[in-house]
Amino acid sequence: MAEKREFLLAAALILPAWDREPVKDGALLIKDGRIEALGQREELFSRYPGFPVEDLGEVLIFPGLVNAHTHASMTIFRGLADDLPLMTWLHQYIFPVESHLKSEWVYWGAKLAVAEMLRSGVTCFCDMYLFEPWVIRVVEETGVRAALGEGLFDFPSPGYGPLEEGLKLTESLLKNFADHPRIRIMVMPHAVYTCSPETLKKAFSLAERYGARVHLHLSETDDEVRECLKRYGKRPVAHLKELGFLQENLHIAHAVELTDEEIEELSRAGVSVAHCPESNLKLGSGVARVPEMLAAGVRVTLGTDGPASNNDLDLLSEMRTAALIQKGLRRDPTVLPAREVFRLATEEGARALGFSRCGRLEPGFEADLAVLDLARPDLTPVHDPLSLLVYSARAGAVSGVMVAGRWLMRKGRLLTFDEEEARSRVTEIAHEIQDLLAKKSTP
Ligand SMILES: [Zn+2]
Repeated sequence: MAEKREFLLAAALILPAWDREPVKDGALLIKDGRIEALGQREELFSRYPGFPVEDLGEVLIFPGLVNAHTHASMTIFRGLADDLPLMTWLHQYIFPVESHLKSEWVYWGAKLAVAEMLRSGVTCFCDMYLFEPWVIRVVEETGVRAALGEGLFDFPSPGYGPLEEGLKLTESLLKNFADHPRIRIMVMPHAVYTCSPETLKKAFSLAERYGARVHLHLSETDDEVRECLKRYGKRPVAHLKELGFLQENLHIAHAVELTDEEIEELSRAGVSVAHCPESNLKLGSGVARVPEMLAAGVRVTLGTDGPASNNDLDLLSEMRTAALIQKGLRRDPTVLPAREVFRLATEEGARALGFSRCGRLEPGFEADLAVLDLARPDLTPVHDPLSLLVYSARAGAVSGVMVAGRWLMRKGRLLTFDEEEARSRVTEIAHEIQDLLAKKSTP
């Protein structure tokens, strides 16, 4: 629920958006969960006398970050199996343990993930997983914003059983959450190597019936491209194009392996891309051609991917990695500047997920914001707030998060749920997973 009240929020610095200059000694007027006005503190205080004021002091208020691709509940697998190729990691570790997945695991894993994301200033995320109604429940309970969908596969899922049930589940979610202010349901076929053309057809036609967006992993590794060529005689982008699915409602994760022509195809079709640099680096998949995609006009967003292949959900550090990796690879420090990376992590992410009134702190936009504590040695001095956010800030420096005008974290404390409970439940679940793996390895 959005807060049904008006109040002024004041801070030493407010960065309204990636393309705006910071406002020194600034204030925001928030009404019914939305930004009503933005300006200098003195000006707003005199324009709105008698309104309640919350002065946050020596902090920087910035638009909440958007994690455009993750599998939040996979916090339960953090550090379970590292340093392996994607297919080995998936088929020998993740899929076998996931075959025992339970709704409580998904619920507590997601709750811990929301705690972690809030602590890096994330107000909105895109989630694909199994037992997704339990992630949705977490989103409802914690007050965060999200675009969510049940992962769909050719093979039976521990979440819903056969594919037809997964499609039915997705359809019921599309109906039930059609008008939710903070939740968007997306149709989420997992990838072209786990979904046949027939499965993809069913998924895309369901999305079309409900005007929903579609999210899938695409062109993540050269293995995937080779496999796609072998099975269908086409690279993944051409495969989707031939099926008629390369369209504006498509949001793809990774897009590491792209040719120049494929980048053009994505741009022409209006497909958005979730760039997940740390996961791609950790799994040795490579580095996405972000500067080329941006030059071609592709909408690029930023995601952490699941915490089992990253291994954190810190979008601040993801921004830094995204910027640094391109500079290093190209031996050019001017590539992917801080302002551009911040755009991907805010406004572009929000738009790709269908939240067009998020990602900026301007009148008419949702009051989705984060508060960076500036009274710290690692964030002093403030020559340029954008530089601090992208190159210096770490998750722990975020002391407040507001979604739709409601504080979810304030002065470093989470207000809508018990973070310690989530931590201890996930620790218990990790013991269960260890027992399961021990049983599997004894003949
Ligand atoms: Zn993923």
